[in-house]
Amino acid sequence: MKAYRYRLYPSEDQKVMLAKHFGSCRFVWNYFLDLNNKSYAETGKGSNYNRMSKELSHLKKHEEYQWLKETNAQSLQQSLMHLETAFKKFFKKLAEEPVFKGKHKRQSFTVPQAFKVIENLLYIPKFKKPIRMFRHRDFNGQVRSITISQEPSGKYHASILVYEQDPDIQQMPVTEESAIGIDMGIKTFATLSDGVQIQKPKHFVQSEKKLVKAQKRLSRKKKGSHNRMKQRVRVARIQEHMANQRRDFLNRVSDVLTRTYDTIAVEDLSLKDMMNGNHRRAKAVADAGWGMFRVMLKTKASQRGRNFMEIGRYEPSTKMCSACGHVKSEMKLSERRFICDICGYTNDRDVNAAINIRRFALISEGVPTESGELTPVDRRTSALELLAREGIRASVLVEAGSPVH
Ligand SMILES: [Zn+2]
Repeated sequence: MKAYRYRLYPSEDQKVMLAKHFGSCRFVWNYFLDLNNKSYAETGKGSNYNRMSKELSHLKKHEEYQWLKETNAQSLQQSLMHLETAFKKFFKKLAEEPVFKGKHKRQSFTVPQAFKVIENLLYIPKFKKPIRMFRHRDFNGQVRSITISQEPSGKYHASILVYEQDPDIQQMPVTEESAIGIDMGIKTFATLSDGVQIQKPKHFVQSEKKLVKAQKRLSRKKKGSHNRMKQRVRVARIQEHMANQRRDFLNRVSDVLTRTYDTIAVEDLSLKDMMNGNHRRAKAVADAGWGMFRVMLKTKASQRGRNFMEIGRYEPSTKMCSACGHVKSEMKLSERRFICDICGYTNDRDVNAAINIRRFALISEGVPTESGELTPVDRRTSALELLAREGIRASVLVEAGSPVH
């Protein structure tokens, strides 16, 4: 599945109709989320899609909820489906608890069928005329669904989800020569097992400062005032800009890595830890866009016949010596170097962790790692070249050496 995002230019009438759709779908989500929350609190059980869908049709018969009929029924049902999925993910500890949708956040609704895209026009149910769409690039494959959204800054987009399959792609084998482990960091974006360190772009910091300033200004504006509304749009614009910057950066990095290495291993950072544990760390993880980065790596790897692997979160990647396998009892966050008490091996903390991540992945695939060889230097050179071409700051931190296990 691949999503293509296009800017939409609705007419004034269409904007009204879109607002109705956003509002109704938001209402359905919030209404049933509330019902579910109450039901969980009282009986320990929630509802499922089928029951919610039945209740929704009852609701629509009531006079006070007649306005729901102005919205495409399938989009409302899609909201229920999303809610059901959100609860399932939450209970599997794959996501945070579903929350109420606010008016001032990003708005969206999904059209699962009965749509058409003809050149620069998007046809969807309940809309008499097609919506103008800027088709800056083409999409191939079978369209599964279309999600229409409005950013808090006011811009509209259509995200077209397409199922595409390329039968010509050849799957690469997992080998020592072409595998890389990635340690994700907070200060440094990522450290690779061959010693390459990728830095976050400098403009992230500048945008962050701008955002803090704008948010401070917003908090000083009088509630309900026109100036406050204007300032809120300003804040939203900066946030949107930052999201674009991040997506662009992550796209470039994941592109280079999936072109250079045949096997890419990362740690499985379950959301569970972040929800229970340290909020500052959770925020840093979310801000760095790790979740999005992993999705990109996975998608691009599969499109290119490369292997994307996640190693268990309980593997001691940080505390383990990548040379002799000794596991330290403690490794503080402040310790920037790994020094083995047993064999005396020493390396940068993150490089050592990345080497372990790579090894765990290779072992899980049954690839022997006795030689202790790291990914050859020519791959590293080409990664550095490609990163530089994309304008991404990267360097080789240390000569990573060849630890023998
Ligand atoms: Zn050691």
